[in-house]
Amino acid sequence: MTQPTRDELERAFAELERIHRTHLVPHGVRLPAPGSARAFQLAVLWHWRDRPVHKNEISEIVRRELPDAAPDQQVRHLKRDGWNITGRGSHQLADPYRPSPEFANEQARRRGRLDASTFDELKAAFGNRCATCGAVEGEPDPRYGGGTTVLDQGHQDPAKPADDPANIIPQCANCNRQYKDDFVFDDKGRAYAVHGINPVRRASKAVQRRILDYLRETLEGET
Ligand SMILES: [Zn+2]
Repeated sequence: MTQPTRDELERAFAELERIHRTHLVPHGVRLPAPGSARAFQLAVLWHWRDRPVHKNEISEIVRRELPDAAPDQQVRHLKRDGWNITGRGSHQLADPYRPSPEFANEQARRRGRLDASTFDELKAAFGNRCATCGAVEGEPDPRYGGGTTVLDQGHQDPAKPADDPANIIPQCANCNRQYKDDFVFDDKGRAYAVHGINPVRRASKAVQRRILDYLRETLEGET
């Protein structure tokens, strides 16, 4: 097996960094510092993700890049950080999109959206994505291209207090502007009820008529 080059390792790590940001940050999995021994371990495992890699092979490559690194590289630290690595002696990064089951169970008790005490923590609980459209903070908007996605504090239910943290969901500027206060969102950020009448105004005459019939039926006699 030809050892991965420095470039290949850096590419592997960059890929993992991206996956980590969108899939693992919400679970609290820790990303090793770029250029560290653990970062190289992880990059080696991802480069050879199709097969288990013996720990001696990992150590050899880490020491090629970092001559001062310990001769016996310990992959278990990565496991402790939450990475879904299987095997003993030989290791494989089986699934970079999910934390190890043990780690996930541990974190599930400690985390939760309502535990978030800052907007940064809340954003992390949503994978640093817009709750409504999934645009990733700091990356180009998938629908409009260009620019970089900025996440604002959107209001899940415009009827509820705007300063209640339980009423905040991260939304990209586009969604926040587009939906205004017209909708109530569920806790996954999907619009599920109208709050303003603009969506009714924009509806076709046929739909407006259906709404009118519905309202007559349900509100009849109430007022
Ligand atoms: Zn959005």
